[in-house]
Amino acid sequence: MSLRSRLTLLYTSLVGGILLVFGFVVYQLVSVNLVDQIDELLAISANDLIEGTELNAVGGLDMISTPDVELATNVYFQLWARNQGLRLASASISHLREPMSPLDYLPAQPVYRTTTIGGAPLRVLSVPLSVGNRLIGTLQVGASTAIVEATQKTLLTVLIAGTVVAMALAALAVSLTTYQALASLGHVTNVALQITRADDLSRRIPYQGPPADEVGQLISAFNQTLGRLENLFNMQRRFVADVGHELRTPLTVIKGNINLLRRMGCADDESLQSIEGEVDRLTRMIGDLLLLARVESGKLPLVQGKVELDALLLEVLQQARVLAEERIRIRLGDFDQVLVCGDRDRLKQVILNLVENAIKYTPRGGEVLVTLGKVEEQARLTVVDTGPGIPSEDLPHIFERFYRAEKSRTRTGDGKGFGLGLSIAYWITRHHGGEIEVQSTLGAGTQFTVWLPLFEGECQQER
Ligand code: ADP
Repeated sequence: MSLRSRLTLLYTSLVGGILLVFGFVVYQLVSVNLVDQIDELLAISANDLIEGTELNAVGGLDMISTPDVELATNVYFQLWARNQGLRLASASISHLREPMSPLDYLPAQPVYRTTTIGGAPLRVLSVPLSVGNRLIGTLQVGASTAIVEATQKTLLTVLIAGTVVAMALAALAVSLTTYQALASLGHVTNVALQITRADDLSRRIPYQGPPADEVGQLISAFNQTLGRLENLFNMQRRFVADVGHELRTPLTVIKGNINLLRRMGCADDESLQSIEGEVDRLTRMIGDLLLLARVESGKLPLVQGKVELDALLLEVLQQARVLAEERIRIRLGDFDQVLVCGDRDRLKQVILNLVENAIKYTPRGGEVLVTLGKVEEQARLTVVDTGPGIPSEDLPHIFERFYRAEKSRTRTGDGKGFGLGLSIAYWITRHHGGEIEVQSTLGAGTQFTVWLPLFEGECQQER
């Protein structure tokens, strides 16, 4: 059974059940109340009659003031004497030779009973009449309860009809509401199936209802998941394409050189050097890829210790000066002693990546400025160059793996970067509890800033 049918059935039964209990209580209350009113009328009438009853001269029961007693319409009485039978009765039932309530002919105390006479419903009050302790007769006063039965019948009809109508309306309302709410879920299922069948992660589920309700939230979460999956899927596709592309160039060079060697029949130095260069490049790339995979997933073990960032920076600058030769000026700006926690070798790799990039992308005669200082609880290291800058559309992507700004792509063949260096720097910094930022102005230069938490007495063993 569908969820919609189950909900409709549940709520309809619930409404029906509640109305049935409610109807039963109302029916009982009304019935008891109506019978009470008749009983009260009977008691008053019986009182009036008893007041006009006395013993006659020969000790028999008599009613001395019947004409004075005004009984309500539909109220009848019979006066039974113990030894003389029926002594007196209302005119309208004078033909009746039996007590109205035969079971209570001589009751010990007043008794109310509901009975029928000739099929007509009657409520009878039987009151014993005594002289001293001697029971001498019975007064029975009766009233028709036809009106009670008619009222009960009408009430029952109204209650049953009301319950049926209410149940039908509840079923309709629940069915419509759940149809509206669940229709969107059906849509989600359809789109999800279509996405699976068509392998199209770019699709999203449209939703017109209120975004804050449960279905809206579900669809929004589902769309976010789709977005994330699409991103991951595209990243993976791009990654495979990039790796393939990066591998093809060195492998083609190696293959070309091997063919050349075969044709020449001997190994010349130039070809061997070229092969060696490409193999080194491949080895570097695979090393970087493995490192990135481990650092991205947090599986790269980081040796935690106190690191003197100032000493580390000086080491890097020494290497950088060799790399820059006379081509670029490397300058140390503001410089402070700074201690941080972390893996010395990995932090060195971060700084080296940034400084190497600055040297790599800055044209001859340019300058690379490095500073180190403390800002509040953070170490702040900047690498500023006077290079070509990074286009603003590339800026949000440069920390993605294999991403290279448009201009740098043309450099593929020159044995330089693969677009992995900044990704590695980003992840290492993140796993040290820090951040890496970039600001760049086209034609003026680029500034990378690394923020790291300062050493505060001791280093945590694992991050
Ligand atoms: P690559 O190995 O290509 O240098 P990176 O991940 O280190 O890869 O850098 C990604 C891209 O960011 C580079 O291809 C380049 O386009 C850009 N980039 C990085 N540093 C600089 C810089 N100092 N000046 C200009 N562009 C830069």
